[in-house]
Amino acid sequence: MTSYWRMAFRWGNQGTEVWKQCRDQGIAAIGYYLSDGEPIVGDCSKIKEEEFDTVWRSKALPAPASQSSLKHVAYHMDKGDTIYVKEGTQIVGRGTVQSKYKYRPGLVKQKGIRWEHYVEVDWDKNFKPFTLNLEANQNTVLKLDTERLEKIHAMESKSDMLYDYVDDVLKVNEGEQYITEAIFRKRNRKLIEQKKTDSDYRCEVCGMNYEEVYGEIGKNYIIAHHIEPIGNRDGSSPTTIDDIALVCSNCHNMIHKINPPMTVDELSNQINK
Ligand SMILES: [Zn+2]
Ligand SMILES: [Zn+2]
Repeated sequence: MTSYWRMAFRWGNQGTEVWKQCRDQGIAAIGYYLSDGEPIVGDCSKIKEEEFDTVWRSKALPAPASQSSLKHVAYHMDKGDTIYVKEGTQIVGRGTVQSKYKYRPGLVKQKGIRWEHYVEVDWDKNFKPFTLNLEANQNTVLKLDTERLEKIHAMESKSDMLYDYVDDVLKVNEGEQYITEAIFRKRNRKLIEQKKTDSDYRCEVCGMNYEEVYGEIGKNYIIAHHIEPIGNRDGSSPTTIDDIALVCSNCHNMIHKINPPMTVDELSNQINK
């Protein structure tokens, strides 16, 4: 049976940095150290769960919340489990566990922090953070009971709905139908200006020119549509002038009527029939 966990990645006020490092490495890590930097408990795969507490107590004072957190990572987390990441009063990440416990000295290192116990995790890159305090804050790793899990699921669907709603509002806002396109325009203002200046301000789909229809007020008006090449939606390659199409707002709406958007040629072929 898969389990659900809430985990904090904290070390004083450096928790944020540790979480970023874990996210980038695709892991969930934890570590407890003595003041001389020696781990309280080393490779747990070499220690039976029944012996763990004895090993801990031979090195350090009892610390039930810490012991239980490390035991969860070492013995209880399993492939397919879900981990929610806590940062203050927010849930900032969610991932699916990909491996059982592993141990690698030097895995996460920052200013004396050495977190070497970990599981591999596939972190959800599209996760939308939300505020939720589940208490039990002294537990770095907390197994979620039904009640806490229901609270998380309720917030997840609320936050999904909220983000969908925001998307919808932005889609209706003419000229900035998509937030990604709005961001694209802000980032590529110069390139867009250049493309417009070199153009005849005519819609590349229907040939409409705003000045011809509306007079002076329509002069030099045209919409920059961002052509996203299929299979290159992470925006990794630099933008060129060919990534921009100049269109009227009617054609722009039609282009975005479907998702992924139609190409300029596809729409042109439809209206020229
Ligand atoms: Zn047009
Ligand atoms: Zn567009």
